[in-house]
Amino acid sequence: MANITSVGVIGAGQMGSGIAQLAAVNDIDVWLYDTDSEALIKAQNSISNNIQRLLSKGQLSQEKSADAVRRLRCSSRLEDLHSVDFVVEAIVESEQVKKSLFSNLDKIVKSSAILASNTSSISITRLASATSRPCQVIGMHFMNPPPIMKLVEIIRGADTSEDTYCATKCLAERFGKTVICSQDYSGFIVNRILMPMINEAFHTLYTGVATKEDIDTGMKLGTNHPMGPLELADFIGLDVCLSIMKVLHVGLGDDKYAPCPLLVQCVDAGRLGKKRGIGVYDYR
Ligand code: NAD
Repeated sequence: MANITSVGVIGAGQMGSGIAQLAAVNDIDVWLYDTDSEALIKAQNSISNNIQRLLSKGQLSQEKSADAVRRLRCSSRLEDLHSVDFVVEAIVESEQVKKSLFSNLDKIVKSSAILASNTSSISITRLASATSRPCQVIGMHFMNPPPIMKLVEIIRGADTSEDTYCATKCLAERFGKTVICSQDYSGFIVNRILMPMINEAFHTLYTGVATKEDIDTGMKLGTNHPMGPLELADFIGLDVCLSIMKVLHVGLGDDKYAPCPLLVQCVDAGRLGKKRGIGVYDYR
């Protein structure tokens, strides 16, 4: 597998913008694509500010930071990604929407390109089935926020080739990440364990066992977690948490994964967490 010199990042939300930043500061040309032009503007501003901050802290040289800014290009035309070596998708956590994107990408990008998904829980094997290149489809699951968190979880679909796995691992390592590898079962490693805990924290609140503050303080001081589970859910996005619980529930076939009614109600009410200014907590 040739060295990766250009990537396409699909989705300019909290994960996509962080992944695009990581690539740009690690000497890789980036096309950042989103259907929402406002999301692209917001992402470009946030990446520029973050690069500026790295420069002022002495973590990036003047030359490197100027180079990173130059390497990032934004687009709302998927065709602009035709020549990239590697694509990371970070759009909404919906199997149907991701499959349709993968099917379109498959027709646009060059035949040697790898298609990776940052999905938190959706089957890589099923996403791969929407393409003509299942051996070049893989899960590359960054943690939030991608520039800060040290882990990348790599998920091999049923047909993912060894070359695709090695190229993806190598790219994650260029980003300074530690890699763990999971088989393709719902939730993979991290969310299989984390999301049921978050869901249980919602049940604990829903059934009136304790206040949200006491639940979070209990887990922070009692188990040494840097954030409480409800605070973390707001940070991840309650819509993302709900989508993952639904995938676990269907995929693992056990009612212990059924989403808590309070989590469902928050999402129905548009209280999606920090990104909307209100979730379990009010940030306004
Ligand atoms: P987000 O809501 O912040 O951003 C999603 C972006 O995708 C939006 O800008 C939206 O306009 C864009 N989008 C939606 N549909 C699109 C399409 N068809 N084509 C192009 N752009 C489209 O979401 P996020 O939190 O960044 O999550 C993105 C993905 O990353 C999800 O699959 C999620 O499960 C995964 N993930 C999230 C976290 C987290 O903590 N939020 C962590 C790891 C992985």
